[in-house]
Amino acid sequence: MPTPPAITGRIIEDTVIPARGRWSAKVAKGHLLRIVDVEGKQGVDFLCYNANDVDDRYAAADTMKINGNLFVGLGTTLYSINCNPMMTVVADRVGFHDTIGGCCSDAVNIKRYNNAGHGSCRANFLAEFKKWGLTQKDYAANVNFFAYVPIGPKGEMDFRDPLSEPGDHVDLRADMDVIAIISNCPQINNPAAGFNPSPLQAVIWDPEG
Ligand SMILES: [Zn+2]
Repeated sequence: MPTPPAITGRIIEDTVIPARGRWSAKVAKGHLLRIVDVEGKQGVDFLCYNANDVDDRYAAADTMKINGNLFVGLGTTLYSINCNPMMTVVADRVGFHDTIGGCCSDAVNIKRYNNAGHGSCRANFLAEFKKWGLTQKDYAANVNFFAYVPIGPKGEMDFRDPLSEPGDHVDLRADMDVIAIISNCPQINNPAAGFNPSPLQAVIWDPEG
């Protein structure tokens, strides 16, 4: 079982996000955010916003184009709709983080599986948005850390078993002051959360602290 490397610097926050839970925080420019998949195979629906201008939010398509890849991995920079660097992946135990699958909602769970009402990332995001004065109009296509959505030769896509093992992590360096928002995916109809939603750990630290 992988153990994340020790953190050097001043820890600002160290939080366990319970299964199906949600979390958000400001991450100052130059600080780092570690997300640990404590039990493995857990999808992390993630959005970030420029803390000084929330209209300047994460832009999935521009991030894919500028990085030239469908997946987020080591070295990927997340870009905003104004093409400002927001966060960069500086450590990654997994290598494939989804950019296109988006978040689950009661509506799509009913449409695809006729099985909803067990929580959703959309509901989590909207609840967490209220802390920052954001509304559903601020929702954007999100990153799914640890979720694996490969593309077939004819464009086939769906969530597959996440590749993350217990204790795998990703570290993101904030390239601007950001508001980072996580929905710990409650999905049970597909493998986005390994059919078993489980806890995450979120750590923010100042490497210079
Ligand atoms: Zn979800």
